[in-house]
Amino acid sequence: MTMIIPAADQYQELREALRDLCGSFDSQYWQKVDEARGYPEAFVDALTKAGWLSALIPTEYGGSGLGLCEASVIMEEINLAGGNAGSCHGQMYNMGTLLRHGSEVQKQLYLPKIATGELRLQSMAVTEPTTGTDTTKLKTTAVKKGDKYVVNGQKVWISRIQHSDLMILLARTTPLAEVKKKSEGMSIFIVNIAEALASGMTISPILNMVNHETNEVFFDNLEIPAENLIGEEGMGFKYILDGLNAERALIAAECIGDAYWFVNRSRNYANERVVFDRPIGKNQGVQFPIADSYIETEAANLMRFRACELFDQNLPCGAQANMAKYLAAKASWEAANVCLQTHGGFGFACEYDVERKFRETRLYQVAPISTNLIFSYVAEHILGLPRSF
Ligand SMILES: Cc1cc2nc3c(=O)[nH]c(=O)nc-3n(C[C@H](O)[C@H](O)[C@H](O)COP(=O)(O)OP(=O)(O)OC[C@H]3O[C@@H](n4cnc5c(N)ncnc54)[C@H](O)[C@@H]3O)c2cc1C
Repeated sequence: MTMIIPAADQYQELREALRDLCGSFDSQYWQKVDEARGYPEAFVDALTKAGWLSALIPTEYGGSGLGLCEASVIMEEINLAGGNAGSCHGQMYNMGTLLRHGSEVQKQLYLPKIATGELRLQSMAVTEPTTGTDTTKLKTTAVKKGDKYVVNGQKVWISRIQHSDLMILLARTTPLAEVKKKSEGMSIFIVNIAEALASGMTISPILNMVNHETNEVFFDNLEIPAENLIGEEGMGFKYILDGLNAERALIAAECIGDAYWFVNRSRNYANERVVFDRPIGKNQGVQFPIADSYIETEAANLMRFRACELFDQNLPCGAQANMAKYLAAKASWEAANVCLQTHGGFGFACEYDVERKFRETRLYQVAPISTNLIFSYVAEHILGLPRSF
């Protein structure tokens, strides 16, 4: 039976290439990685070697110079094939921070190596245990001493450090009490992870619901060369915000991939599973929720492409990127729930992949931004309602 995916679009060639690659990493591959709580090393290598993870790096730095629409199709196809782009999506959007705000020297130093896969830039360290979503109150400090910054503090939930060479770090360089606006006085740095682990940075992995490599990170007088500052000192929070629209749109695309995967699995199982002498899908109580999931996914997908297209035209897309992330994460989570229910007891068996994808897609209601924070953005910035915090 043919897969339910959006009608053939202008990305068909790209989709076919991704399907070829992802097809070599089947259910058993992802099940084994999940069971071992491992990292899909072979998959990420293959993706890197084929050039897909450097989609957003301009050609002059060795990348393929594609737009966000294409990059989002790459992420979508991984999840649509039953995989988990969460293992490598950081590379797509973290690199954007360097590209937009790094100096020419930094770009020449890192981007070509990221494009070939010699270096991985999979990590970004923003969240802290005591301040959470209230990012401007973060407590990690970077104090300039001669030609170095000395970093002290703590981060939490920092993903893929153990499978990355470089990390973008947000730290406060001017105390909160000394800045006019709380969004000022923070800076971003590019951190060489191996060097940092040998000189003041320690990590402690967090065992979590998903097979997602994520860590607590501690900085004890970590010295970072001053030339690793990205852009201007004090502007780091703005730089991080600049990257969020791409991140939101890419995560939305992953959710769309998940959502179609769930709809396909639900549809197939409902057609095949016979109970009371008829396919369970003949019961409207079973088929209507699947139809509902499909409708919600199609609608969310429109907003995802709207956000990507605006981004690629360099037009404001904050509203669309946030709404796409919200709609897609909701559609994938609801489709996951329907898929589990449609499978009955078998939904809980690991060999069906449903429980794994169910856990994986649930994350996107919380990270990289929680649903309430999207509501708050839309309420304040789009609808002009009073600022709440
Ligand atoms: C698996 C995983 C991987 C992650 N990877 C990274 C990473 O690589 N780098 C990184 O920097 N971070 C990462 N994060 C952190 C993630 O971005 C945060 O967990 C997320 O932004 C929510 O922050 P918090 O957990 O501190 O929740 P909190 O800020 O403590 O909020 C808890 C709940 O309260 C709600 N809430 C808080 N304040 C308000 C308010 N004013 N109004 C309404 N509701 C509110 C939130 O929406 C949320 O639901 C990851 C998290 C997870 C779980």
